[in-house]
Amino acid sequence: MKYTLPVLPYEDDALEPIISRETIEVHYRRHEQNYLNKLNDMIAGTRYEDMLLTDIIRSSEASLFNNAAQAWNHIFYFKTFSPNAQHHPKGRLADAINRHWETFENFCDVFVQMGTSLFGSGWVWLCSDENGHLHIRAESNAGNPLVEGLTPLLAFDVWEHAYYIDYRNRRDDHLRRLWQIVDWRKVEERYNF
Ligand code: MN
Repeated sequence: MKYTLPVLPYEDDALEPIISRETIEVHYRRHEQNYLNKLNDMIAGTRYEDMLLTDIIRSSEASLFNNAAQAWNHIFYFKTFSPNAQHHPKGRLADAINRHWETFENFCDVFVQMGTSLFGSGWVWLCSDENGHLHIRAESNAGNPLVEGLTPLLAFDVWEHAYYIDYRNRRDDHLRRLWQIVDWRKVEERYNF
């Protein structure tokens, strides 16, 4: 199976000024396409060829893992955003966040802090375990909590390519502003408890 670049559920300029059209062009259409191309080249004619992308992530390492995880992570990341976002979690997810972090605002601060303090490139994740308990994971490079058996709910990309065009070196500023476009309806759909 050949993986192709999914069409995003919004126009390229719809997330401005939080994420610019230029960043969508470079980060999604070029970087993500590049990960997909490398993934397709690496799985062609191998036992991974007809495997689900999440199963490739769970069962590969080194270069194949890096390209498979980056391919999946970016689609997950970009599909979390909306120009018409629901700005707060509701229902059982809101309850679980409040149980763990006391308030939604405190959760947001801790999440951004984890992303800001991650050295080098990587991702910060909100994920749930099999009991519905929530965890934040800061992962280097392509790291994805699927390999730990956790279910990803939300990811912020902290690679410089995610923010350098729009924010230069201001990772903290970029991560804080992402809350304005995170659509918590999408996050709630991933939390099945
Ligand atoms: Mn990225």
